[in-house]
Amino acid sequence: MFDYAPAPESRDIVDLKPSYGLFINGEFVDGSGSPFKTVNPATEEKLAEVASASSDDVDRAVQAARKAFGVWSALPGAERAKYLFRIARLIQERARELAVLESLDNGKPIRESRDVDLPLVAAHFFYYAGWADKLAYAGFGRRTTDGHSGTKPLGVAGQVIPWNFPLLMLAWKIAPALACGNTVVLKPAETTPLTALLFAEICRQAELPPGVVNIVTGAGDTGAALVAHPDVNKVAFTGSTEVGRIIARAVAGTDKKLTLELGGKAANIVFEDAAVDQAVEGIVNGIFFNQGHVCCAGSRLLVQESVHDELLEALKRRLGTLRLGDPLDKNTDIGAINSAEQLAKIRELSEAGADEGAERWSPACELPDRGYWFPPTLFTGVAQSHRIAREEIFGPVLSVLTFRTPAEAVEKANNTPYGLSAGVWTEKGSRILWMADRLRAGVVWANTFNKFDPTSPFGGYKESGYGREGGLAGLEAYLDV
Ligand code: NDP
Repeated sequence: MFDYAPAPESRDIVDLKPSYGLFINGEFVDGSGSPFKTVNPATEEKLAEVASASSDDVDRAVQAARKAFGVWSALPGAERAKYLFRIARLIQERARELAVLESLDNGKPIRESRDVDLPLVAAHFFYYAGWADKLAYAGFGRRTTDGHSGTKPLGVAGQVIPWNFPLLMLAWKIAPALACGNTVVLKPAETTPLTALLFAEICRQAELPPGVVNIVTGAGDTGAALVAHPDVNKVAFTGSTEVGRIIARAVAGTDKKLTLELGGKAANIVFEDAAVDQAVEGIVNGIFFNQGHVCCAGSRLLVQESVHDELLEALKRRLGTLRLGDPLDKNTDIGAINSAEQLAKIRELSEAGADEGAERWSPACELPDRGYWFPPTLFTGVAQSHRIAREEIFGPVLSVLTFRTPAEAVEKANNTPYGLSAGVWTEKGSRILWMADRLRAGVVWANTFNKFDPTSPFGGYKESGYGREGGLAGLEAYLDV
């Protein structure tokens, strides 16, 4: 393994304030709940105090969004597009600042926030900006003779997002909502509120009419108040299946439209004819990207028995070259675990894996003294009944199982309450199609993994949720068709 000199990205570009307020009706205002702190998970250093929105604050935000809806929904699509294009360009201009802040608050390597998250965030705004004046051609409803789309926006969208891709999940939620003429109140996760608040500043810079975007920070209670607010017309949630269930219950019996993007336990399936080195890269990207804090992570590796030993040997060699440490270092592959709670969960499930009889392996890897860290970990000899094969770990932990025939691979891959994504590695095109037909997963990647694009829909089956985000399907979630 090579030694690399430190190559830290400077954090000077970020102007961290000691405290942050809520963003309501185009202004930063105090919250009436007690403020909470957000920390850098790589060092446990406090980054800032953040306001907490009570249900009264949420009500003010929803009222602001309701008022703005009148203005925003009445604008011609081409005018809304101008704002969205402007936001997209500002995101590109301020990409380094946003990427550094994301890595500070979330713990993800700068290489990922800079080269994956931020380009995708901008791409989402560009993509949906392009749709804002073309909704009449999106294929929903009949066009009227004056060229208007036969569709209508829904109204006020209440959006609750998780901590794994703070800004990207914000983009997935806000860009299509605004393009379709809705206004939004968004609640970021408690551990990663800072980039959403910087985005609020960008909305001001873009001179977005006040109230079109509102950001309410806080804990689960704030999210619950938003979801339950009677004047919210649409709820969009990404997060755990457990909270997804609570939200589905809260929304049941109302006429709110709901999309849920929940957990996953994806199978990454490697056949004996796959190119081993490429498959190894795909496996690493599938589960160690973003410390495994990815709902569609390839957390179950299914290897054809005949190539198990060869593949595992190559995979272990590759894991030995991953560099774990300072997220702001440009050479870092694996950053910090987002929170002490998440670290405890990963540890607990990993211990259960060893206790249930799977064999645990990690490369030699020094963990920093401060902060929340977990080494890349493999479990071999995993049985389908083990908790590490069934539960979402949401960390850098891969469970390896084997299969002999394609039918067995399909059966094992589908043997999960989730159905968000899957990967297939083989050189045979016909086998890819055969597998894709049978895998109960919203996305099936072939000879690649974790590839995202604003034009392609994303979402799950079964306990991974319902509704689609991205692409044309992502518009439908924000329109009355
Ligand atoms: P949650 O599902 O609890 O959090 C997602 C968002 O929902 C956060 O903004 C959270 O606020 C908010 N929230 C929490 N409770 C409620 C509620 N009752 N009503 C409305 N909103 C609420 O995920 P966690 O962060 O607690 O992570 C727990 C586990 O979930 C992880 O270990 C992981 O396995 C899984 N997870 C899966 C994700 C995915 O994309 N599939 C994403 C994140 C987590 P707050 O931040 O204050 O809790």
